[in-house]
Amino acid sequence: MHKDNQALIFELTKEGRIGYSLPTLDVPEVDLSELLPADLIRTEVAELPEVSELDIMRHYTALSNRNHGVDSGFYPLGSCTMKYNPKINESVARFPGFANIHPLQDEKTVQGALELMFDLQEHLKEITGMDEVTLQPAAGAHGEWTGLMMIRAYHESRGDLKRTKVIVPDSAHGTNPASATVAGFETVTVKSSDQGLVDLEDLKRVIGDDTAALMLTNPNTLGLFEEQILEMAAIVHEVGGKLYYDGANLNAVMSKARPGDMGFDVVHLNLHKTFTGPHGGGGPGSGPVGVKKDLLPYLPKPLLVKKDDAYTFDYNRPESIGRVKPYYGNFGINVRAYTYIRSMGPDGLKAVTEYAVLNANYMMRKLQPHFDLPYDRHCKHEFVLSGRRQKKLGVRTLDMAKRLLDFGYHPPTIYFPLNVEEGMMIEPTETESKETLDAFIDALIQIAKEVEDNPEIVQNAPHTTVINRLDETKAARKPVLRYYKTE
Ligand SMILES: *Cc1c(COP(=O)(O)O)cnc(C)c1O
Repeated sequence: MHKDNQALIFELTKEGRIGYSLPTLDVPEVDLSELLPADLIRTEVAELPEVSELDIMRHYTALSNRNHGVDSGFYPLGSCTMKYNPKINESVARFPGFANIHPLQDEKTVQGALELMFDLQEHLKEITGMDEVTLQPAAGAHGEWTGLMMIRAYHESRGDLKRTKVIVPDSAHGTNPASATVAGFETVTVKSSDQGLVDLEDLKRVIGDDTAALMLTNPNTLGLFEEQILEMAAIVHEVGGKLYYDGANLNAVMSKARPGDMGFDVVHLNLHKTFTGPHGGGGPGSGPVGVKKDLLPYLPKPLLVKKDDAYTFDYNRPESIGRVKPYYGNFGINVRAYTYIRSMGPDGLKAVTEYAVLNANYMMRKLQPHFDLPYDRHCKHEFVLSGRRQKKLGVRTLDMAKRLLDFGYHPPTIYFPLNVEEGMMIEPTETESKETLDAFIDALIQIAKEVEDNPEIVQNAPHTTVINRLDETKAARKPVLRYYKTE
């Protein structure tokens, strides 16, 4: 299957070769059977590769070079904000005073870390316009669930038990309806208009006194600002519902507009997107949630507070929904986000938003002649093209995404949001230069030309990668885990 000559680690094995050196044992050897139950002790030697330290370094370095990452190339994955992660964040997160502390340490000995968390909360309150923030949730989806649980606790505390429904637009990120379901609600879909914005008439149709909340992503997943957001807020509050702001797309509005000022009661942020935490491939996330006064009693506990010039955790919160994460959130990611906010400053964060929006509009207009643009209006941080013109020529958006790999790019998000046929969702972010944007634009234009002149080259892509087109379902459902044995 692999067509270059990189051997598998098991093929490099030479019996007796070892990749470590330990000092000779100078203490008595321990009899494992005295420590572990017999059925947990190996009876055969583990089947591990036998290679030298240098072999293993070269092997994994070579593999890592095949990866796509923000540090190695343009990564325009829509809805994910794959921006550059400044390396100063890493240095600060590794300060011994941050990296070597333990969450069970006496509060008196970690006042600096608590101050950083408190100050980060203050910055996020200012950025979102909310009254209080918790740093506990570990990701955006986790923040959504936390926010919805607070909304549920709010309604229940008032004896208002009929509110079983959460309204979600048809363009929403899949985590929104999923979080609503896990929080015990029924989701109701509200349609988008042909302008790509929530259809207010449809909202009025689905809303009622059983509405617990409306979850809204703004700018929405088409990259469009919900221009009637204030009207929507009024409609929802009118019937006693709460407003949830999915802030994963904050990169498009940060320092320009605040969910709190738009009337929202709850917001989550993705610090691993907007605030440069490394993400993708399982990096830890951070999805802080901000709330307005009404929801303060329900925040996860403990709450970090400042008392007599010291920072401390308040556990005495009888109405809290409880703890949503062991300890106090993904501290390392919060340190990185804090470093980013402090190193950018308010003017820097404003510039981030402006360049993110400028870059997306620049690319959208350059690509517009070559692809269909279903929503022809200024976008925010991302935009969605349709490959329906190319589909008529027998080439799918999936094929074009695969062809981009031949040009060395990680493809954009495809077939999302679901309301765009053959969609391709591109988010350049503010950290890319004009030269990088131009090179990517040229690659996509060339692919559009290939679709007309030589569609096979696109249909059969990729050609230059280590393996060719995978059967995606099989690759996901039947990964060949012990491939080295099959010869
Ligand atoms: C990424 C994203 C989420 C989910 O965030 P995770 O951290 O991946 O859980 C939710 N909504 C939108 C719009 C997103 O882009």
